[in-house]
Amino acid sequence: MSQKNDHFRIARERMVESQIAARGIRDQRLLEAMKKVPRHLFVDEALWDQAYGDFPLPIGQGQTISQPYIVARMTQELGLKGHEKVLEIGTGSGYQTAILAELADKVYSVERIPGLLPRAKKVLDQLGYHNVLIKLDDGTWGWKEHAPFDAIIVTAGTPVIPEPLLEQLKDPGVMVVPVGDEYSQTLTRITKKDGKIETTYLEGVRFVKLIGDHGWRA
Ligand code: SAH
Repeated sequence: MSQKNDHFRIARERMVESQIAARGIRDQRLLEAMKKVPRHLFVDEALWDQAYGDFPLPIGQGQTISQPYIVARMTQELGLKGHEKVLEIGTGSGYQTAILAELADKVYSVERIPGLLPRAKKVLDQLGYHNVLIKLDDGTWGWKEHAPFDAIIVTAGTPVIPEPLLEQLKDPGVMVVPVGDEYSQTLTRITKKDGKIETTYLEGVRFVKLIGDHGWRA
């Protein structure tokens, strides 16, 4: 067991060096978090040996766990320092949720597919992330009861930025969201400051669809 854990720890360190630090991610707290969180536990055991590869992996129900670098890039753009309340749309495997839980004060995560939640919740619980709250819902409506959020991350691709998410973003606040068509999107950073919205286009990405009232229609 401990030999196996060593094996995965080494795979994680390699992943961080060769895929993440090597591509210019400099946030030390983020690099440490990615060295710490056991990504393999968030996928089927049959895929454990691929869990630290430079690609997304299937997690069932036609969904995927994002490529490690994309998780890092999106998280870095949020600029988390530790005191933030974060909203995540698209819990999926729960891996990105764990990274956020390492770096922020409180994480609220919304997932629309019931079948994905048991494993995500179980793993997050076993790893001791008690600062995470998850609900099953259409996340394009945000999570009004807990708004406003210092940071919002959308981990599925959308044709438009859901209006409720813009409204639930604190001032100042930052949101990262892949915007585009079904096949390709642009990772987009939205900042709200002094009542003004600023938009920055970061890089091309490919995500599964954000399906809901303010995303793609089911
Ligand atoms: N962060 C996750 C990404 C999973 S893929 C991970 O790395 O594992 C994107 C997820 O968004 C899928 O689980 C999908 O079911 C979910 N999703 C799509 N539309 C959604 C919506 N309207 N509300 C909440 N979750 C949604």
